[in-house]
Amino acid sequence: MPLSLIARGSMKQNPMSELRAGMPRARSNERHDMTKFSDLGLNPLLMKAITDAGYETPTPIQAQAIPLLLEDKDLLGIAQTGTGKTAAFALPTLDFLLEFPEKRRARSTRVLVLAPTRELAGQIAESFSTYSRHMDCKVQTVFGGVNINAQRRALQNGTDVLVATPGRLLDLVSQKALTLQDVDVLILDEADQMLDMGFIHDLKKIVAQVPKDRQTLLFSATMPKLISDLAQQFLDNPVRVSVTPPSTTAERVDQGLYHVSNNDKLELLFDVLNNPEIDRALVFTRTKHGADKVVRKLLAKGLDAKAIHGNKSQPQRLKALDAFRNGNCKVLVATDIAARGIDIDGISHVVNFEVPNVPEQYVHRIGRTARAGRTGLAVSFVAEDERYYLRDIEKTIGMEIDVLKAPEGTKVDLLPTPDPNERLYKPKGPARGTGGRGGERRPQKSSRPQGKARPQGAGKSSGGGKPGGRNRGAKKRNLEGARG
Ligand code: AMP
Repeated sequence: MPLSLIARGSMKQNPMSELRAGMPRARSNERHDMTKFSDLGLNPLLMKAITDAGYETPTPIQAQAIPLLLEDKDLLGIAQTGTGKTAAFALPTLDFLLEFPEKRRARSTRVLVLAPTRELAGQIAESFSTYSRHMDCKVQTVFGGVNINAQRRALQNGTDVLVATPGRLLDLVSQKALTLQDVDVLILDEADQMLDMGFIHDLKKIVAQVPKDRQTLLFSATMPKLISDLAQQFLDNPVRVSVTPPSTTAERVDQGLYHVSNNDKLELLFDVLNNPEIDRALVFTRTKHGADKVVRKLLAKGLDAKAIHGNKSQPQRLKALDAFRNGNCKVLVATDIAARGIDIDGISHVVNFEVPNVPEQYVHRIGRTARAGRTGLAVSFVAEDERYYLRDIEKTIGMEIDVLKAPEGTKVDLLPTPDPNERLYKPKGPARGTGGRGGERRPQKSSRPQGKARPQGAGKSSGGGKPGGRNRGAKKRNLEGARG
């Protein structure tokens, strides 16, 4: 679709902007614009890895979070993938391991990172390996969907950093292949997605097994009440750092929409994708079944596409991602869960085949095209029963999304643009499921936190240490001395 056909959404006063502006921030981004990596106080071995990686300046979340984490503080980070948040938590964590080296213990880890999906876990582990390349640091990953025995064996001699999805981690712990009693640093990444996927009970079980005397970091793209409740339970007097609130992401992306009946969406998708200007398009469907159906239809019409969702095996998912990354397959059809957290550059188009019922989800989706400072195009197919959600999205992002001209040569009869004053009602029936779960899991009914996972006042600042002198509180004091 020619760029000229997509006009930038017209800005208007966003009634929620004040609310957003009120999001807790430890530091303003501007204040750190000029921060250099050398200002952060990281170990020279890490500085060398940063140079190797070609990073010149810290991203805002790095500039804000790293100094606080080096002071051993707990942190609540509101940041999406693409902001550089992985380095923001990995670098100070590795700095801690360098500062306080310890012999690896069998079936044990000192750093535990929890992530919602295997893809994200793999990417986080890769980042840890990249940044720790000049030090002696073992990084391992465990996730479900693959044989557990190889993971049991790999853990036998212990590791320094373990990146895990919650379910598989608990399986390994219950099989005594791993203990969490030596964890010094606990990191929960994409916490909102973990909750969406129903991991709340697993998270509580895990946190209950990790020593109270630890540093805890929780990152989330959004901050619903459930996450702040969880943060209150898991974190000890955390500092808050927030970057790129959702509304700013939306402003960087060119957005447009078609009013189209559900029956005509597949035909329209083919016409939209059949455009040589598209390098890589990410198409979002609500359900796994829907994703497969779209792929089948596109393939039948001779357009190469692959699906990625929770029912696909690990090799299938990796194969699809690889083909998409290296340009062999220009259309990836995904559910929200499968797509979130995946670091793919150069996505030229996002197509919302179905409109999400949670505005933040829309922002996540379209944000996939606007990575690394590029602008992208996001096209939404809006059926009559999705207009209510569209209005919700427009309210949240503070823009009206423009109606696009029909793709050239299309035979689809687009629906007329509805009256903006039309009275809309929230669709009844089962939740559409696009609010984070991508239709992949049913929400957990009792996902409200119940009771404290940590006894009050039992955080690391209470001075309670682990037996055997492995006491982060003591380390913290040393650290303060060492860092002046
Ligand atoms: P993340 O948000 O952690 O998924 O990071 C997104 C991408 O940004 C990754 O490909 C990182 O390698 C890259 N990245 C992280 N920090 C920096 C930096 N300071 N400069 C340039 N690229 C970075």
